[in-house]
Amino acid sequence: MRVLVISDIHANLEALNTVLEAAHQNGGFDQIWCLGDVVGYGPNPNECVARLREFEHICVLGNHDAAALGQINIEDFNPDAKQAVLWTQRQLTPATRTYLENLPEKRVIGDYTIVHGSPQNPVWEYILSPSTAHAQFAHFHTPVCLVGHTHVPAVYHHFSDHQGRWVTAWHFPEPGDVYELHDPDRWIVNPGSVGQPRDQDPRAAYALLDVEARKWAYYRIPYNVERTQYLMRQAGLPARLIARLSYGW
Ligand code: ZN
Repeated sequence: MRVLVISDIHANLEALNTVLEAAHQNGGFDQIWCLGDVVGYGPNPNECVARLREFEHICVLGNHDAAALGQINIEDFNPDAKQAVLWTQRQLTPATRTYLENLPEKRVIGDYTIVHGSPQNPVWEYILSPSTAHAQFAHFHTPVCLVGHTHVPAVYHHFSDHQGRWVTAWHFPEPGDVYELHDPDRWIVNPGSVGQPRDQDPRAAYALLDVEARKWAYYRIPYNVERTQYLMRQAGLPARLIARLSYGW
């Protein structure tokens, strides 16, 4: 089975549609696995949920999905993020709300554990370093864990060195790179963000996973950033959140 793995769509329908088309051109897919934060920041929360639901897919809960449902205290969010959360809360249709309310925090499918943040703290924890990743391997039991949340693509490779110690190496994938997530090693992989990349590259990110062969292929695709920015201005969303999409930070 071929799976399109995406994360952090953040209500950016332009980016989502571009990724869907690119993945289709790129050999297609049988299912989508979405790693959370479908909504928040962007101008099309309801449309992004509806688009995802056109496909056979699974999805887990992200922190911005929880925030949009009013499930968490947003006092610690920065002012722009807070304003975007409050705007998103006002937009949600009953259908979108019901969809988000039913998202699980974690899914385990065969060889794969699927969360937004980390296996230990599925909704909130950021895996941004090999030391953080290293500690996480004790918190899931499958060979592979898929995470999002950081908006930065990454491959963490956990393997036994020549002295028999388990160590964790950090790879920054280049678009087009394919990783074989082979045994007995273990892996935490992050496809990057569809709708708000934060690695200085504004292009939308996605991965295609051959589930049985455990081949992880990572890609980027340019999308119409200006269109999303126009819709954000129309919605009155914060200027800083609009500007960052041009630069990928
Ligand atoms: Zn996010």
